[in-house]
Amino acid sequence: MEIRFDGQRALVTGAGKGIGREIALLLARSGARVVALSRTASDLASLAQEIDCETITVDLGNLDAARAAAQQAGEIDLLVNNAAITIPQPFLETTVEALNATLTVNLHAVMVVSQIVAAGMIRRGKGGSIVNISSLSSKVGLEDHAAYCASKGAIDQLSRVMALELGPHQIRVNVINPIITWTPMAAMVWTDSDRTQAMKSRIPLNRFAKPIDVANAVAYLLSDKSDMINGDTLMIDGGFLAR
Ligand code: NAP
Repeated sequence: MEIRFDGQRALVTGAGKGIGREIALLLARSGARVVALSRTASDLASLAQEIDCETITVDLGNLDAARAAAQQAGEIDLLVNNAAITIPQPFLETTVEALNATLTVNLHAVMVVSQIVAAGMIRRGKGGSIVNISSLSSKVGLEDHAAYCASKGAIDQLSRVMALELGPHQIRVNVINPIITWTPMAAMVWTDSDRTQAMKSRIPLNRFAKPIDVANAVAYLLSDKSDMINGDTLMIDGGFLAR
């Protein structure tokens, strides 16, 4: 099964590092014109040396700037809302500031960027496909991640409503829920080798995900190979939830 995106424009948020970067690389190699959005300009500059892409440097934590960036991206056929942050804190010490900062990037920015992109898709009448990157943490609790888990649970539900309301315009909205995936974000949290081994031992495939595992699933859900899939959440968890 070959997946191609020739002639389509894809906006990928958080494309500077980790999973988002892998998605941008895969989509570009599959023929899409990638608009790579992220916070650190040097990451985007190095990405643009690897693939011929457009870049937008913006902090999605500023919602006005997020809206302006979505407008700047122009006509978009494929949207991947991937950028997210985590501020690990025990529940009793979780601050309102950390909760607000997490929800702003992980939830509010997804909503405002999607509103602008989806409105453009509706205007052009050609449909489109949106993939929101959630997490295993939307389905199970993870210690020290109250704000992050809350934001990811909300993304799953936001996406279902988007699928209901955008579906009649032939815009599909689906969610990818990865388990721990080796990226700079994971390296920040999974430093303790005993804890890492304990977590891996609960995964039937006995390993964490690689960014390409996630990117391949994103490409499938963006593509016409998944034309009848809408409002779904797809676990990339090596079987963790099968227990
Ligand atoms: P990452 O390594 O931290 O990379 C995140 C990317 O998003 C970076 O390029 C970052 O830019 C960008 N970004 C973050 N905040 C931003 C903001 N306010 N404005 C613009 N760009 C911003 O994260 P990742 O591990 O690849 O995670 C990607 C997605 O997968 C996230 O939605 C995450 O929740 C989800 N996920 C990850 C894992 C995992 O274990 N890694 C597991 C499940 C789900 P800067 O570095 O410049 O801030």
